[in-house]
Amino acid sequence: MVDDRSGTPSLDDDSALDAFREEVRRWLECTLPSVWGALTPPVRPSEAVDMAMRRRFDRALHAAGWGALSWPTAYGGRAAPIEWELVLAEEAALAGAPERFNRVGLGIVAPALIQYGSEAQKQRYLGPLLAAEEVWCQGFSEPDAGSDLAGLSTRAELVDGRWRITGQKVWTTLSAVADFCFLLARTGEAGSGHRGITAFIVPMRQDGVVVRPIRQINDSTEFSEVFLDAAETAPEPVIGTVGGGWRLAMSVLGYERSTNLLGRQVRLALAIRALRHAVSTYRDSVPEPLLDDLVDVWIRSEALGRAVREHLAEIGRGQAPGIGDNATKVYWSETYQAVGDLALQVRGLLPDPAHGLLDDEPDWYDFYLGSRASSIYAGTDQIQRTIIAERGLGLPRR
Ligand SMILES: Cc1cc2nc3c(=O)[nH]c(=O)nc-3n(C[C@H](O)[C@H](O)[C@H](O)COP(=O)(O)OP(=O)(O)OC[C@H]3O[C@@H](n4cnc5c(N)ncnc54)[C@H](O)[C@@H]3O)c2cc1C
Repeated sequence: MVDDRSGTPSLDDDSALDAFREEVRRWLECTLPSVWGALTPPVRPSEAVDMAMRRRFDRALHAAGWGALSWPTAYGGRAAPIEWELVLAEEAALAGAPERFNRVGLGIVAPALIQYGSEAQKQRYLGPLLAAEEVWCQGFSEPDAGSDLAGLSTRAELVDGRWRITGQKVWTTLSAVADFCFLLARTGEAGSGHRGITAFIVPMRQDGVVVRPIRQINDSTEFSEVFLDAAETAPEPVIGTVGGGWRLAMSVLGYERSTNLLGRQVRLALAIRALRHAVSTYRDSVPEPLLDDLVDVWIRSEALGRAVREHLAEIGRGQAPGIGDNATKVYWSETYQAVGDLALQVRGLLPDPAHGLLDDEPDWYDFYLGSRASSIYAGTDQIQRTIIAERGLGLPRR
């Protein structure tokens, strides 16, 4: 059976998953050359070219009706089981497709709007987000409020019936290219902690918002500082309720930790495969302990794959993210960093890393640096461990 909108096999038919995989493979084969443009992997693109590729890929997926397979149909999804998302993520990673461009919008903003937004907000924002016509960033962290998010001090004030925002955000991914920010601000008294926080929609292209990019060690300027000076908010700017921002933020961060791991886990497994290939080819150059380490990260990656699939299946059945997702996030970042460490050690031992089989390698330096950030974003590993200790194991609070 074929759905006439996009050529996707019918979701009612369980055996359709294999057919869908085939369909995705064929589609990727036809589509990716136009996504890559003049630049075919493994050549590393500049940041601007990389963003353009990612945006083209988001748009192509949307045009195919595959932009958000598991979302409700009313908002552009297919209400498909999570296994379908998994097939798409696996095949896309295997084919060398870029990662999603509007990932903050897809991973955090959309779940917040679908769960807490008004119908008018859903109708206004979800379509352009899915089509990558409007890009979103997430303004939670501040210079003095990262892990301690409840201490944030950016203020929202009602001026002539409209909310205006003043303060500073930092590490705001994609803010230099974003159209909207999903922003937490204080609407309660100073010192009101998590009870006085509200989630707002703030247009980024206005005089009250200044974005100052932060250049990182890998030359990327993907995140920035954001300064807000009586910044205007969108019409109907509050997501959820005034004062209800904390609950909303905690819930969507749970989704970020779980759903984002889908593609990341697949890409990690592919990196291990590339590493295994290099080690097998240059077997005599690599000492025994590093082979043990390779086996170790492979075992971790397999276990991680199973955990991610299990948690996503639970979310697909309507269960909210829980302690298992905090644990999986820690396990993923530790595994990612172990692969990054191993990759640099192996690379340094190989006779001529610039030639032969290693032309197909990921950029290991970039991979290594990316791995270091994984234990910080979406909540640091230390904070995840505290949550697991207190809420998962019931240990006494420190
Ligand atoms: C690549 C990347 C992208 C990001 N993108 C965004 C984004 O788009 N939007 C956004 O809002 N933020 C973003 N962030 C910010 C991220 O959420 C914060 O960096 C993170 O929450 C930690 O906050 P912090 O940097 O202020 O560190 P801090 O909270 O100051 O922590 C510093 C260290 O102290 C430890 N620590 C702090 N408190 C405790 C405690 N109670 N117990 C034990 N240890 C503790 C931490 O684990 C950490 O090791 C991004 C970060 C990275 C690395």
